[in-house]
Amino acid sequence: LKKPRKFKMPTRVKITGRTSSVTNSFVNGVIPGTRPTASEIAEVLAILCMSADDLRCAYCGDPTSTWDHFRPIVTGKRPTGFITEIANLVPACGPCNSSKGASHWRAWMTGSAELSPVTRAISDLASRIGRLEEFERWREPTVFDLEAAVGPELWTEYWAPHERLLKVMRECQVTADIVSVAIQRYIVAEGML
Ligand SMILES: [Zn+2]
Repeated sequence: LKKPRKFKMPTRVKITGRTSSVTNSFVNGVIPGTRPTASEIAEVLAILCMSADDLRCAYCGDPTSTWDHFRPIVTGKRPTGFITEIANLVPACGPCNSSKGASHWRAWMTGSAELSPVTRAISDLASRIGRLEEFERWREPTVFDLEAAVGPELWTEYWAPHERLLKVMRECQVTADIVSVAIQRYIVAEGML
């Protein structure tokens, strides 16, 4: 049975809180991807004990319709070499996907990160881990050397503005904090809210 959902204030978003999304788009936007066949999808769903018309998050069991990278595509602001292919995709819900981030799946599942399966007290954790271990053994994932594919010159040109972009975001955050304080002062002075 599902617990009733309590009211939750939208999270306050920081500009610097978006830096990993920016880095992710630098990698996700260029890595190769291959579309799986129907039988490959069926094989993965069989390993994960799921049916195609009742797709569930492999980590927590919540209903989902999306497949996400099982091994992270980014680590330390650079590509890991893992790509978008069936050997590296499992059905996953949005909260699990963003909570997991660049962590190793098992460390994250058994760790205390916000919204991790342990934090959310997922009951069948051990059997989920077992199935994911089986998925991990199912097929050797591709490790793709992006730099070798495009050459060092283009690769350097691609990544040079990335660090500048992150620096500009940090500068914007400094000003955003000042603006935020000014707004709070105004609210107090005017006796608003
Ligand atoms: Zn989930």
